[in-house]
Amino acid sequence: MLVVMSQQATAEEVDAVVAAIEGKGYTARPIPGGERVAIGVLHNKGAVDASHFLGLPGVKEVIPVTRPYKLVSREFQLEDTVIQVGDVFIGDGDLTLIAGPCAVESEAQCLKIAQIVKRAGAHLFRGGAFKPRTSRYSFQGLGEKGLKILAKVREATGLPVVTEALDTDTFGLVEDYTDVIQIGARNMQNFSLLRRAGRSSKPVLVKRGLAATIEEWLMAAEYILESGNTQVILCERGVRTFAHHSRNTLDLSAVAAVCKESHLPVIVDPSHAAGRRDQVIPLSRAGVAVGAHGLMVEVHYNPEEALSDGAQSLYPEQFEMLCREIQAVFDAFQPSGPVRQKKT
Ligand code: PEP
Ligand code: MN
Repeated sequence: MLVVMSQQATAEEVDAVVAAIEGKGYTARPIPGGERVAIGVLHNKGAVDASHFLGLPGVKEVIPVTRPYKLVSREFQLEDTVIQVGDVFIGDGDLTLIAGPCAVESEAQCLKIAQIVKRAGAHLFRGGAFKPRTSRYSFQGLGEKGLKILAKVREATGLPVVTEALDTDTFGLVEDYTDVIQIGARNMQNFSLLRRAGRSSKPVLVKRGLAATIEEWLMAAEYILESGNTQVILCERGVRTFAHHSRNTLDLSAVAAVCKESHLPVIVDPSHAAGRRDQVIPLSRAGVAVGAHGLMVEVHYNPEEALSDGAQSLYPEQFEMLCREIQAVFDAFQPSGPVRQKKT
């Protein structure tokens, strides 16, 4: 439930409503908004009786929340959430491009790719230091050494970095080095990891699980917001289907659905969806056309020798081409109306 205060409500009236909600044993979560001050009611079991709050001074209306997720929903917050990472704003109406290798392999490899993607137009650099690999015998990542390389990339290029935190043991280490913490598809329902991410002061990028419904995906993000971190970016990276022509199936309708359901920014990862280079550019165009706020793309100058995901990594010239053409696609499909209101 959401208790909406009138525009003229005083701070004391808001505090009194918070106290009334907590007096009933629920959690009150004030939601700052451009248009209205509202207070979310959390941790209620079953329906909440609106009459407890309707008569209180300053209360304009009480809106029932129909979704199983609350803080991430547009029922709680109508305006888009904008995430700031350094000088980059994700979800503010501009297209965000995140690019880099699947895995951090060496300092020279990362610096070279970072320079390539920066010159082409990327806003953030990606690279895994802790890699979630299906096979125990595949490259598992450089660990802390990889994180140090990412810090050097940021220093050398000015690009903020995105990297995955694989478990709660190493979360703090990753958090110390990176600008954005990625929760990978395989960890989307690792609830202790999500709770830990919720206590971080850094933005978190939550990938959709391999076979997660959008409801499960949004509930995963809800764990992070409920724990206190409102800086969450959602990433559609394809789900497992019967298809063999691609590694996964990029769920374009999920992007449209989630942009409508949630105020959080949504980006598309065409690389893990496709699993093969030739589909990455077409899927990037489609993802942006359907409403994604950004893309995360794997790039490597020598993908044949890459230690992971070489088959889906774009060659530098392909990424440059993508950057040249994608802005026009984004501009052509900017929706207007309440779903894309800018936060004031
Ligand atoms: C990655 O981004 O390199 C990765 C492992 O992604 P996912 O969790 O989507 O498979
Ligand atoms: Mn990868």
